[in-house]
Amino acid sequence: APSEVLVAGGTTLSVGPGGGEAAAGVIPPDAGFTVTQLDASAFALSAARRRLLDHFGVASLEPFGCEGLELATAAAGAIVGYLGEMHQATLPQLRGLHTYSTDGFMVLDAQTRRNLELFEGGRWGAEDRSLLTVLDLTQTPMGARLLRRWLGQPLLDLDELGRRHEAVAWLHEGGVRRQRLQDGLKQVTDVERALHRIGAGVALPREVVALRRSLERVPALKELLAEPGGPAWLDAGLLPCDGVVSLIASAIEDDPQGEVGQGRVVRKGFSAELDELRSASQDARSYIAGLEARERERTGIPNLKVGYNRVFGYYLEVTNSHLDSVPEDYVRRQTLVNAERFYTPELKDYESRVLNAGERMEELEQALYRQVCREVADSSADVTGTGAAFAALDVVVALAEAAVRHGYVRPSLDSGDTLAVKGGRHPVVERFLPSGAFVPNDTLLSADEQLVILTGPNMAGKSTYLRQVALIALMAQVGSFVPADEARVGLVDRIFTRVGLQDDLAAGQSTFMVEMVETAAILHHATNRSLVILDEIGRGTSTYDGLSIAQAVAEHLHNDPHLRCRTLFATHYHELTQLADRLPRVRNYNVVVADEGGEVVFLHRIAPGGADRSYGVHVAQIAGLPRPVIQRARDLLQQHEAGSGSGARSAERGRRKRRLPGGPKQGELGLFAAAVEDPAALEALRSLDLDALTPLEALNKLHELQRQARGDG
Ligand code: ATP
Repeated sequence: APSEVLVAGGTTLSVGPGGGEAAAGVIPPDAGFTVTQLDASAFALSAARRRLLDHFGVASLEPFGCEGLELATAAAGAIVGYLGEMHQATLPQLRGLHTYSTDGFMVLDAQTRRNLELFEGGRWGAEDRSLLTVLDLTQTPMGARLLRRWLGQPLLDLDELGRRHEAVAWLHEGGVRRQRLQDGLKQVTDVERALHRIGAGVALPREVVALRRSLERVPALKELLAEPGGPAWLDAGLLPCDGVVSLIASAIEDDPQGEVGQGRVVRKGFSAELDELRSASQDARSYIAGLEARERERTGIPNLKVGYNRVFGYYLEVTNSHLDSVPEDYVRRQTLVNAERFYTPELKDYESRVLNAGERMEELEQALYRQVCREVADSSADVTGTGAAFAALDVVVALAEAAVRHGYVRPSLDSGDTLAVKGGRHPVVERFLPSGAFVPNDTLLSADEQLVILTGPNMAGKSTYLRQVALIALMAQVGSFVPADEARVGLVDRIFTRVGLQDDLAAGQSTFMVEMVETAAILHHATNRSLVILDEIGRGTSTYDGLSIAQAVAEHLHNDPHLRCRTLFATHYHELTQLADRLPRVRNYNVVVADEGGEVVFLHRIAPGGADRSYGVHVAQIAGLPRPVIQRARDLLQQHEAGSGSGARSAERGRRKRRLPGGPKQGELGLFAAAVEDPAALEALRSLDLDALTPLEALNKLHELQRQARGDG
């Protein structure tokens, strides 16, 4: 989710999953980021490399792991150049480069993130119904950010995943230690943000103190993590940062008050000079504070006042009725309607002491504060590392907490090709149903049972099931426990989803076009380690086109040796269930509904076998279509099913009776070959108005054509 993208002028950017190419200048306004065109020279390799070397003050990019990575170097150099021109002040915050390779992560395109509702629950129309909100039980903003990153970048590394799962399991078992760690983390501030602000010189004193207090939690947290079985990698990441802690502790008050410069931020004892100024200023102030009482006594003027204003400074005020009692040494400063204001040489002296001390104190305290911030920023490598460890600890504790609260189990992960789930649930949908209302379902996808065709009426829960399987794989590869009784996940390198969503329309392309573009991307990019979720492909076009495309896609996913990926294929086309007869790795499942005395009851249970009805009229009724419309639809459906419609073609019956063309059969090919050779037959075929034919007429016509083509007509 970038906020700004830099491109070389004239570049085209591809938007969406292998999706339409759009010129950089015409990225849709809702893309969520700004596109800035730079001159192509900004990306020139040698200049870019030079810029990076200069910026980091190094002789080689080797330590950053990007020597030899030309595109990465050019891109990083362009960014540094751009920041130098546009946001100079941010440059010092760029302290290093990290390289990473998508090889280490499961690929999730934007479409899939959206379809699976990882970060936004678009499908439910409620922002908060996303996987992130269900899992985000973190205590710190750093933890929340890291969890989001983890969810967007599931891992492919079994060792790393083992470490995460091990840590979650350890915290899952130990309720007390989990609670203690949460309590500790609650005291931790946003270390990353604090460091940025300190580095940029804009941090408030209380933010610096919050950083110290956070770092002071480290020993207690480490002690908890060092218990037997504790995650050593998290323990090792937390560094005590004693230097920074004691620097801040000695320099900044525990409860700094006011602005820097008023003398109440830098701690007493940190700077002798500041302490002196502070006491000089304090002495002078208390002298002046005592002056009123002393002067009243000396002059016998009972209502004599000492005051201060910005223009005239300190003064002694005497009302007109007592002007006679004013002593010799009073010098007139200001005349008011009812009173005169005076000063004395002594008062002036103290006044200048207060002002001088104040001015110098302001300068000095500010300088000291800046210096402390600079020192903290300079020694920030350990602090940065500790901040990252806080975040990781926070995420792992949150995942354990979610596992306990929502009843998740530890998945087993391996490099095999099985995805087996017992009692799987959709982590988000189940949260918004009454407790226990969600019906768990099993899943088995493997090299032998590679492609599941899932049929069932609308609203039965097909989409929920499809997403749930993908989410379980994803959560397992994030390091989370999963909503199931048992789960075994053979690593998935990429999840593809093609799911009908309303917002397809928003893109301005026809729904069908979008659907096909996405399907094409899947067929081009999937590997046999991928998990493919197809929901209702081919729905956006005519029945015959749609069915043909859906079948061809299913066959390709099954047959192409480069694909053969684990696939869940939900469809309205019941004909596709016939594929299981011909293709060995296809299995049929359906979402069961019970027909209780004409009332359809959704059981949300997935069972082997294909569905034979779609219950569309029933769903239309639930949706509130007017009663007469429903009744008419029922009648029509009956007519269609009985095949006695008034000349209308029987859609439903046609569907059910329709046989799928399998591999090309001798006779069929013969017909077309003959038709091509016989122009008369071809012409007759061409001129047929298929929409106007009844099934019987069509059959007769076919006979005729065949006779013609065989030359015996
Ligand atoms: P359509 O084909 O119309 O898109 P669908 O078959 O994909 O429908 P879903 O949208 O997945 O149906 O589910 C419909 C509703 O059924 C969901 O909003 C959810 O509340 C409920 N539901 C789905 N699965 C389950 C389940 N396993 N247990 C309980 N309720 C479920």
